[in-house]
Amino acid sequence: MKILSFIILILILALSWWFLFRRRKGDGTLPMSSPWKKILEKEVRFYRNLNATGKNRFERSILRFLERVQITGIGIEIDDTDRLLVASSAVIPLFGFPGWEYRNLNEVLLYDRSFNPDLESGHQDENALGMVGTGAMNRMMILSKPALVQGFRNNHSKQNVGIHEFVHLLDKADGETDGIPEIFFEEPYVIPWIKLVQEEINKIKDADSDINPYGATNEAEFLSVVSEYFFNQPALFKKKHPKLYQTLSKIFNQPLETD
Ligand SMILES: [Zn+2]
Repeated sequence: MKILSFIILILILALSWWFLFRRRKGDGTLPMSSPWKKILEKEVRFYRNLNATGKNRFERSILRFLERVQITGIGIEIDDTDRLLVASSAVIPLFGFPGWEYRNLNEVLLYDRSFNPDLESGHQDENALGMVGTGAMNRMMILSKPALVQGFRNNHSKQNVGIHEFVHLLDKADGETDGIPEIFFEEPYVIPWIKLVQEEINKIKDADSDINPYGATNEAEFLSVVSEYFFNQPALFKKKHPKLYQTLSKIFNQPLETD
C-alpha cells in the first residue's frame, strides 16, 4: 500500500512538473493569450493602428523577443504590462524588417525611477532614464520603469525611452553608436543623411525646432530622439518635418498610418 501511495505521489509530481514546464514553454510558442492582446490594445498605439495581419505579426515578434530576452525588475515587482512594453519598444523599430531580431541583447533591467549605474558601464541617457550597456554590462539594457510606461501612456508625448534605447541598440549593431545604423542604410543614403542631421541639429541649437533639444547632443542622440517622435507622433512629425519623416520611413521601412 505504501509503495502504491509513493507511486501515485511521484506520478502527481511528474504531471505537475510537465504541466508547469509545458505552460512555461507555451508562453513563447503558442498564439498570444487574450489578456496579453488586451494589454497591447490598451497600451500600445502602434499595435492598435495595425490591421489584423499586422497585429498577428506583432504578437509573434513580441513572443519571440520575450523567449530570447530576459526582463528583470531590480528591487521592484514587474508585471506582464511592463514586459509587453519592453518587448513593444523592441519590436516597433524593427517591424518593417520581418524576421530581424536583436542579436546584441540578453537582458533588460527595469529600475524604479532613475538609476545610478557605474558610468563606465555604458552611455547613460538624459536624467538616467535609459542606458545600453557596454563593457561588463554588454548585451544589457537598463530602463526606468516609470519612464517606460509614461512613453506609451501619454498620447501627446514625443518621448519614449524604450524606443530611444532600442534604436541605440540598432545603431550599435554595426559596431559604432554613431547615428548611422549601417544595417538600414545603403551607401548612397549616408551622406545626405549626415547633412540632414546637421541641418536639423543646427535648427535645434537656434531654438527653431520642436524636436527635444537633447537630440542636439550628437548624431546618435539625434537618431534616437527623432525616432521616438516619429513612432510616438507620426502625424505631427510628418506635418512638421516632412523631409525627416520621409527619410525615417525609408530607414525603418515602415510608412506609418497618420492618425
Ligand atoms: Zn540616448
